[in-house]
Amino acid sequence: MDFNFFMPVRLVSGKNTVAGNSALLKPLGGRCLIVTGASSARLSGALDDIIAALQKEGIAYDIFDGIGQNPLISACHSAGARARAFEADFIVGIGGGSPLDAAKAVAIYATNADLQPTDIYKRVYKNAPLPLVLIGTTAGTGSEVTGVSVLTVDETGRKKSIVGPDCYAKIAFADPKYTYSVPYDITVSTGLDAFSHGVEAWFTPKCTGVSKCFAVKGIPMLWSALKTLHLSYELPAKPVRDELYFGSLYTGLAINACGTAFPHPLGYILTENYGVPHGKACAVFLPPFLRRAHKYEPQKLAELLALLQTDLETLCKAIAGQIGLPNIHITQGQATQYAERWVAESPRNFDSSPGGLTVNEARELLANINN
Ligand code: NAP
Ligand code: FE
Repeated sequence: MDFNFFMPVRLVSGKNTVAGNSALLKPLGGRCLIVTGASSARLSGALDDIIAALQKEGIAYDIFDGIGQNPLISACHSAGARARAFEADFIVGIGGGSPLDAAKAVAIYATNADLQPTDIYKRVYKNAPLPLVLIGTTAGTGSEVTGVSVLTVDETGRKKSIVGPDCYAKIAFADPKYTYSVPYDITVSTGLDAFSHGVEAWFTPKCTGVSKCFAVKGIPMLWSALKTLHLSYELPAKPVRDELYFGSLYTGLAINACGTAFPHPLGYILTENYGVPHGKACAVFLPPFLRRAHKYEPQKLAELLALLQTDLETLCKAIAGQIGLPNIHITQGQATQYAERWVAESPRNFDSSPGGLTVNEARELLANINN
């Protein structure tokens, strides 16, 4: 069994994690910039907790709360300048995947004043990024434990990621209570994102040994919680919230080791062009993904279905039922353009999917999105 597992984040969990572990912040320096979105840090309670922890440790802070969904590189660049002006020693990112991914880029811009926004994609710069602390407030992306930052280029509106050892946090405080304020629709979408991570990772060739343990643990937790959520049509009780959050960490660890497959890049097309939130956008492509697995990876699929105690058609129907996709019309011309771009930009996602996925097949999936 071959594997090569790297996950350098100190992942700290437990009741009142931030308050209980404030001493971990002290060695990072005396000044920090908190990077977040408009409301998530406040609504979740994470901002109050980190401010109390910083004050306890005698650390000065400033707040940049200008990160939007699908974070723009321009916003990350501005926050980097703010961190420099404040002479921050480290960055604290608070929020869902958008602020957490943004904070990874901010840490790089902060120490490299000559880096223009799009230069971050060259992946060459002089100075090491500032140390990074992440506090997640959604049960979705697993960004707390991944070396990936998904950013959006202002000029094109296109999502483009950076990946590497410089995108890991030093510390992630994992406390599911920060997800309790997430509204119903966002809870479903982020849960579907985490579930997609597990299922996509499952079918990649890298899903063996250590990484497979995380998928085996996380996928059933998420599916059980998503079913509860769907049946009740209301916000789940705290234990279900906790399952969603820890499930998202497990499947985040799985994608970090294995990568995602074709539902993610095809999902980006629905987010960029039709405003579908990330999790639902990726989950749209899970049923066709699973049906390909039936054809090309029957043993792996059988193992997954046994884990979820269901059959293929029931699972596909249940996933589709949770998405509630608006009516989207993609012409053959648009589908060709989208498919060609993403197969060129993310060939690994397509190659590592069951049976691979050709440009023509990707085009057909997109053109038949509402069928
Ligand atoms: P998000 O874009 O971070 O947040 C979605 C919405 O939820 C925002 O309006 C946010 O408010 C709100 N929100 C967040 N936490 C809340 C809370 N506790 N209470 C109330 N509202 C809350 O959503 P996400 O799905 O977590 O992240 C999606 C992004 O992550 C996408 O850009 C996706 O591509 C990326 N992603 C990254 C990875 C990775 O490995 N790095 C993996 C998968 C996806 P605010 O506006 O205040 O923030
Ligand atoms: Fe995702």
